[in-house]
Amino acid sequence: MSALDSLVDVVGSSACLVEPNDVAPYATDWRGAFNATPVAVVKPASTAEVAEVVRRATDQNLAIVPAGGRTGLCGAAVPQANGPASIVLSMERMNRIRDIDARDFSIVAEAGCVVQNVQQAAADAGRLFPIQWGAQGTAQIGGMLGTNAGGIRTLRWGNARELVLGLEVVLPDGRILDDLRRVRKDNSGYALRHLFIGAEGTLGIITAAALRLMPELKRVETAFIAVPSPDAALSLYGRMMESGADLIGFELCGRYTMELASRHGVDLRMPLPLDSPWFVMAEIAAAHPSVPLRDMMEETLGAAMEAGEVTDAALAESEAQRIGIWKIREDYPECHRLAGPSIATDTCVPVSAVPTFLDKAITETTQRWPEGCISAIGHAGDGNIHFGLQAPEGWDKGRPAWVERTEGFETLVNEIAVSLGGSFSAEHGIGQSKRHAMQAHKDPIALDLMRDIKAALDPNDLMNPGKIFP
Ligand SMILES: Cc1cc2nc3c(=O)[nH]c(=O)nc-3n(C[C@H](O)[C@H](O)[C@H](O)COP(=O)(O)OP(=O)(O)OC[C@H]3O[C@@H](n4cnc5c(N)ncnc54)[C@H](O)[C@@H]3O)c2cc1C
Repeated sequence: MSALDSLVDVVGSSACLVEPNDVAPYATDWRGAFNATPVAVVKPASTAEVAEVVRRATDQNLAIVPAGGRTGLCGAAVPQANGPASIVLSMERMNRIRDIDARDFSIVAEAGCVVQNVQQAAADAGRLFPIQWGAQGTAQIGGMLGTNAGGIRTLRWGNARELVLGLEVVLPDGRILDDLRRVRKDNSGYALRHLFIGAEGTLGIITAAALRLMPELKRVETAFIAVPSPDAALSLYGRMMESGADLIGFELCGRYTMELASRHGVDLRMPLPLDSPWFVMAEIAAAHPSVPLRDMMEETLGAAMEAGEVTDAALAESEAQRIGIWKIREDYPECHRLAGPSIATDTCVPVSAVPTFLDKAITETTQRWPEGCISAIGHAGDGNIHFGLQAPEGWDKGRPAWVERTEGFETLVNEIAVSLGGSFSAEHGIGQSKRHAMQAHKDPIALDLMRDIKAALDPNDLMNPGKIFP
């Protein structure tokens, strides 16, 4: 039996794609920066099928690239160009909610569940699955965990990792690690599940996850706020944290990013005129309807205005307006993409260092690339700023020429973040695009340990090769 026949034997011919047109979408990443065609796209429907596909593929020396919703921004879910022959293992058919227990505040979802569907299932049970970001309608639980995704609510509930109680994982040798428990405490040795979260599919395939739920939010207040500087935004952040309400979102956006969103967004309405250098989108919430959130928001903003930290603010007066404010933030990556070639970082610094980081990054970038347009937007409430350099309007030389022109930009910005005690990869992962940054900035002993773990679990390097490691 050929290698492909052997895989068809497990999943059936309709779930083993080989025709170029069928395979093409899995050969390119979301940004269109990485391209490599797999020999097949295999779509198992159960954990047992995943395990059998892994065994048969590795027997034939085929590398395995796990794929979720393929919204990752680092080229991690496509095969490596000029790498070993690979299959893409798409989890989209494993999309069942296996269990939801409102009293336990937990849900067990298969890896191919779309994140938004898990949010909806939680809402239907009167609970909240709190992670939220722009690609949640396409990204899957497996990809969310593979990248340890963050998003706009990390400041309150943490990254994806902090929402995981247990995992089921198919290991590179086809064994199934069944750690799908929902207990809140378990100190029986190493917390193995954490190895697979943020591993970008290099250590195994997550097939299901037991996830924490929160109480449903009964009241929410959202504001779009003009601030004179990142320093003023930081002071406002402090006030909101102390306001007595739960601060669940605090995004900082430069004027240029808002102008891009305004120009390229579909159905986006700016709640304020874009005449401030910086804007904040902030949201506070409460699980009980009697909490006087509107008063708390108005009081906080009023005090901040008196102190000169806020120059103008618009509060959402309806759920539609609230959704409209977050739509600006969530649609921004697509607007950024439509605006032409750009380079963007995924840096994180301690929250208190955000103003210094921005000040240094803007000054040094402007000096070296005066023609570039600086886009700065990010989850300032957790210190994660996506600092980018967009090609000037009218740039007609294409992306490769802009990448060449801005050589050194990422290194410069990453070095500023690292010098402030920060990270060069906050929430998107490493994939293929940040391997050079791993070489430059990752502690060598940490890298050695990572290599030891990889060699112990995947000695033949067949699990998503060419990712993460420099
Ligand atoms: C518009 C837009 C906005 C975004 N905003 C944010 C944001 O605010 N915060 C944020 O963190 N990210 C953001 N992202 C990035 C992206 O959505 C996340 O990285 C997401 O977690 C990827 O999920 P996915 O299912 O698309 O994974 P994929 O892209 O398919 O895969 C990502 C990685 O996970 C691995 N993987 C996939 N499934 C599995 C599995 N079952 N087991 C093991 N490994 C697996 C893949 O091999 C790959 O390494 C955004 C992306 C877009 C397009």
